[in-house]
Amino acid sequence: MQASPELSRAGAILRIDLDALCANWQDLRARLAPGARCAAVLKADAYGLGAHQVAPALYESGCRHFFVAHTAEGITLRSLLPDAARIYVLHGPVPGSETDFLAHHLIPVLNSPRQIEGWQTLARHRGQTLPAVLQVDTGMARMGLAPADLAALPELAHCPGVEWLFVMSHLAVAEDPAHPANAEQLERFRHALARFPGVEGCLANSSGIFLGADYHFGMVRPGAALYGVAPQVGQPNPMRPVIQLCSRIIQLRDIAAGTPVGYGQSWCAQRPSRIATITVGYADGYLRSLGNRGQVYYGSQALPVVGKVSMDTLTIDVTDLPPDTLQEGEFLDLACPWQGVDAIADQAGTIGYEVLTSLGRRYTRIYTRSTAPATAGT
Ligand SMILES: *Cc1c(COP(=O)(O)O)cnc(C)c1O
Repeated sequence: MQASPELSRAGAILRIDLDALCANWQDLRARLAPGARCAAVLKADAYGLGAHQVAPALYESGCRHFFVAHTAEGITLRSLLPDAARIYVLHGPVPGSETDFLAHHLIPVLNSPRQIEGWQTLARHRGQTLPAVLQVDTGMARMGLAPADLAALPELAHCPGVEWLFVMSHLAVAEDPAHPANAEQLERFRHALARFPGVEGCLANSSGIFLGADYHFGMVRPGAALYGVAPQVGQPNPMRPVIQLCSRIIQLRDIAAGTPVGYGQSWCAQRPSRIATITVGYADGYLRSLGNRGQVYYGSQALPVVGKVSMDTLTIDVTDLPPDTLQEGEFLDLACPWQGVDAIADQAGTIGYEVLTSLGRRYTRIYTRSTAPATAGT
């Protein structure tokens, strides 16, 4: 493992298992109702894991429908995928940028009457029918047509110049199957969809897939579960972990009882202690709320983070390991089989999504891909 110069000088290593990621996509697809397609959400640089590697791997696995949030993300993704891939942009066109969608072969999600009008205007100027996805709001008041907008646009189903590929909406509480909002949103979504005869629905995110076949419609849009995040709270995680993260010990020191550690001197040794300083900090996305709360691993042994998280370093209490176990230059594990992204998120008081999308640029990244299955699909 220490062979290449890049690895031998690496301070911290982020391993991204593309096989596990593709297996997760296939696992989700296998859970779908017959006829439903499985897209993949790659916004925020594939949840921080790298769209350049993730997109081609998913395409090879058979994925043909990709979602991003921003137009610029869509333009980048277009350069990474064959023409057969459909790329949908969740935020739709910023006013005046509609032609970018044609130039880069992107499909907008239209969220407001104004976005619909902009797309229709472009279609009229070009004398073409242009594809789009229509988003309706069913319970988040965030994006998509409000019920009143829908009612005010009775002709929407036959919108001149626009071909609706899907009507979509987004679930607010899908990770909690017992929450009544799920059934309410499903009902509102069915009601909206009924106004568009022959157009397919697209409702479920990762968690929504686990709410059952009623939620699958023509296509689902998982993101987090692809990257290993647990789709249901309080349930065992059926997804394979995708990342591993380890960081190098740059200094070991023995301190006397009563010695404070780190900024603010927020932790003080209660006994003679051995402290390991490792090369990950909040600049790398190790959230500052993990100071005096997080833990790292040496093999299966948990070791507490003591003191505040610095920009570039963490201090770890390794006193409970037998003396001489650790040497400077060795690695401790931050994300590993004993502690996945959801466990780190719990310690930090956040969600796995934020842990992933916070991962910094400074890691030496290693992508592993052993197989290249070529199962075409939709
Ligand atoms: C981010 C996002 C998704 C993916 O959600 P996950 O919970 O990560 O599966 C799907 N749809 C929309 C509209 C999103 O914004």
